[in-house]
Order: sequence, then structure tokens, then C-alpha cells
Amino acid sequence: MTNKIYEYKDTNNWFIAKWESFNYLTCFGNDEDYDKSQEIFHPLVKQLAVEGLQVHIISLASDFQLIAFLVNTIATETKRQLSVKQHQGAVLVTEGDRLLWLHLPKQGLPLDTFWGQDQSGFGDKLLIATHNEGKVKEFRKMFASLGIDVESLNDYPDLPEVVETGTTFEENARLKAETISELTGRMVLADDSGLKVDALGGLPGVWSARFSGPDATDAQNNAKLLHELAMVFEQKDRSAQFHSTLVVAAPGKESLVVSADWPGYIAFEEKGEGGFGYDPLFLVGETGQRAAELSPDEKNAISHRGLAMKQLMEAFAEWQNKR
Ligand code: IMP
Repeated sequence: MTNKIYEYKDTNNWFIAKWESFNYLTCFGNDEDYDKSQEIFHPLVKQLAVEGLQVHIISLASDFQLIAFLVNTIATETKRQLSVKQHQGAVLVTEGDRLLWLHLPKQGLPLDTFWGQDQSGFGDKLLIATHNEGKVKEFRKMFASLGIDVESLNDYPDLPEVVETGTTFEENARLKAETISELTGRMVLADDSGLKVDALGGLPGVWSARFSGPDATDAQNNAKLLHELAMVFEQKDRSAQFHSTLVVAAPGKESLVVSADWPGYIAFEEKGEGGFGYDPLFLVGETGQRAAELSPDEKNAISHRGLAMKQLMEAFAEWQNKR
């Protein structure tokens, strides 16, 4: 038993826990939150034979986040190999190779949905529609906290390339996610991102990767951007936003779409060694710092992609529970 205080907090959920001599749950929320948290807490601690977990719920929106918080707290205190996975909207608590506890959405689940075509194991898999291992790594880290395994297009070498023919970020991200989901029968996440410069009417936008032509390098794209803005002399007139749209598609389901902008300005010359693409030219808000001068963690905390990912994490569990 430790004196540690455990906490989980996101926009819609906030839980605190500590270890004492008996199990106890309190809740600031409304009656519904109270009933829901009791219905999860007591059967779970009983099944896991836990004595001493004291939890306070400040706000509750996601059953999954509460179960993950309880199980992670128990695992840390007791050094047990517990883990939490999601499967078709159900939440499974496992210890090593044993299934210990199963939580279902209120309305239950159709049996054929629960078993699915692939009965090879527990846990849902999310296919990330990219070959970029850097992106896959970032998504894997995030989805691990939701109990979801991640695979990428590198695991599906025979799939055809989906050409981005859309004229908006959402169209392109949808096209990739929905086409690959249809071809594989899998749950698929695709992203599309780019730079929108106000003085250029939103260009390069969806054409960011190939602004200076097909197979353009970052250096060629940055040179073209500086050239296009050569007659815009005032920094305040060189405003821009990085944009990111993320789409998750699954067979027979309306896709989940989130997006975010990161505002800033285009500088007059390149600076900084980090990041990629237009980062050496992107002045972050009013800070005077280039995106390429931020560490990866600093950039992820405030960037268009980081913000879109946060939104996705908050909306994902509820979307999974929807038919
Ligand atoms: P995609 O979403 O991977 O297709 O990226 C499109 C293009 O947008 C990239 O090739 C970059 O030129 C640009 N871009 C998107 N996100 C960033 C960023 O975080 N920093 C710099 N450039 C970016």
C-alpha cells in the first residue's frame, strides 16, 4: 500500500483515487453518474478481489476511461499484470491470458457483432492508413491508452494506393479511411493535413505536399511558399494555419470526423532543425518561435495534429459504442 494519489483527467472525465483499508466510492456528479460509477466499481473490485481502493468521481462521461483508471490504479498498487481492452464497444479486463471481467454497453451487443468474423483474440485493432512509421508510432502510443492495438498499411502490402483526389482535407481523409475499410473490413483511421495561408486564399491547403510539383521536396515547397509571399511585406499579413483532419471508418458505420487548426505566421526566412515540411517557416502564434524550433513533445502538445488527436481520444469510445 502506498500513499500515492492517482488522478485521471480529460475534458469530460475526472477521477481521483488513493489506497486505504477498505473499498469506497464517492461522486460529485448527478444521480446518473453516481449509479453508473457504482455499477462499475463494486462488481469490478469484487471480481479482482481488491480491498482498499478509494475513488472519488468528479465528472464521468466514459465507462471505458473509468474502468481503465480503476484497473491501472489497481495494477500499479498491486503490481498485477492487469490490462483493459475494448472489443466492439465492450470493455474487457484481462490478467495475463485470463479474461477476468467484461463490461457491456447498457443496450447490450448483438452476438454476431461481438464475435465478429475474426475470433482470433481479444481486443480491437485499428488500421492506420499510412506507411509512415513515425505517424504509426504516435498513434500506437495514444490508442494503447484506450486498449486498442494499431497496425498500418505496412502490414497490408497488397492493398492498392488510394489517390487523394479530394479538394478538402475531410474528403481526402474520408476517401482513404472509407476505401481501405471497405477493402479490408477493418476499422481504419486516416489523416490529412496541410498548411493554409490566408494571403494565398488558403493555398497550399490539400496540395501542401506537392505545392511545387509532383515529388516535391520540403525545401522546394518552402522556396515556392517564400516566392509566393515575396510581395507580402508585413508579418501580420502573412497569417496561416496548419490544419489536420482525422477520420475513423468502420464497415456499416457512419465515420467519425475530427479536425483542428494551429494558427501562426509565415516567416521571411527558414530557421530551426526539428519537425518536417513547412515547420522551419511556421511562426507559432505570437511567440516568435518557429515550429522547427520545438521539441517533438512541445510540438505535439499544441499542434494541429496533437489537438485533433485529443479530440479523437475524447470522442472515440462513444463512437465505438454507436451502431
Ligand atoms: P499529409 O497529411 O501527411 O499528407 O501531409 C501533407 C503535407 O502538409 C506535408 O507533406 C507537409 O508539407 C504539410 N504538413 C502537414 N503537417 C505539417 C506539420 O506539422 N509541419 C510541417 N508541415 C506539415
